[in-house]
Amino acid sequence: MSRSAGETDNRDSPGFTTLRKTLDEVAARGQRVPFWWRDDDAVAASPALDRLIDLAEAHAIPLLLAAIPDRIEPSLGQRLAAAKNTVSVAVHGLAHHNHAPPCEKPAEFGAHRPLDTLVAEAAAGLRIARERLPEAMLLPVFVPPWNRLAPDLAAALPGLGYRGLSAVPGPAIPGLDRLDATLDPIDWRGTRSLRDPDALLQNLAAGITRDPARPNGLLTHHLTHDAALWAFVADLLETCCGHPAVTCLDPRSLFSGAAVETGAAGSTLQRSVAARKG
Ligand SMILES: [Zn+2]
Repeated sequence: MSRSAGETDNRDSPGFTTLRKTLDEVAARGQRVPFWWRDDDAVAASPALDRLIDLAEAHAIPLLLAAIPDRIEPSLGQRLAAAKNTVSVAVHGLAHHNHAPPCEKPAEFGAHRPLDTLVAEAAAGLRIARERLPEAMLLPVFVPPWNRLAPDLAAALPGLGYRGLSAVPGPAIPGLDRLDATLDPIDWRGTRSLRDPDALLQNLAAGITRDPARPNGLLTHHLTHDAALWAFVADLLETCCGHPAVTCLDPRSLFSGAAVETGAAGSTLQRSVAARKG
């Protein structure tokens, strides 16, 4: 089920109307809009995870699930193994601990600790995720908690076996493909529910008009969603997936592949211009 009984459908709202009109215009020009989806903080099977996977399957959109290695329970791999090949997993830090001082924005992998420590923990994240999840579903993609990481650590990730980075848009990193989140519908500092949906959608539409080729990355947090957030995500997927202007990107085709190449000459850099632009 992609929509619960009684769940509101707001696709006639001004925001969704604007988005649809923008996508129609892009399609009329023969252009395509890349769209992809990441969900963070997975640790175990749950009704919320079921609902998330149901949505991805109903809309046939690949989902990159960022799991917290230190907290992954066996039920997570079991649930994902039963999914219809729509979900892949990325490494969401190590334990999702905040190491920033109280006066700063939270970060697990910010420049608040020695680089050696950050490197060791990022390596441990990948190692533990590999131990706890079936190999076929795990992508060597680092998703720093709170989307923050020290530039020195980013540069070191290819040497640890990572081939991808997903955060919020930032600079290209030699040896890594990056595909970033651009649309977070949660009002984290206020209600922790849905931000003003019309403002979100007008902003999304304006970004598409400015640069249709730039990937749009939806970022969700299934364990946090209330009814308004679930309804918004369902409406957004309903509007975008299947629209002739939209190409749903599969993180697996961007991030998986042959042996990891390290250093600035890594050919993975050449592979995905669209991903790097995110
Ligand atoms: Zn997180």
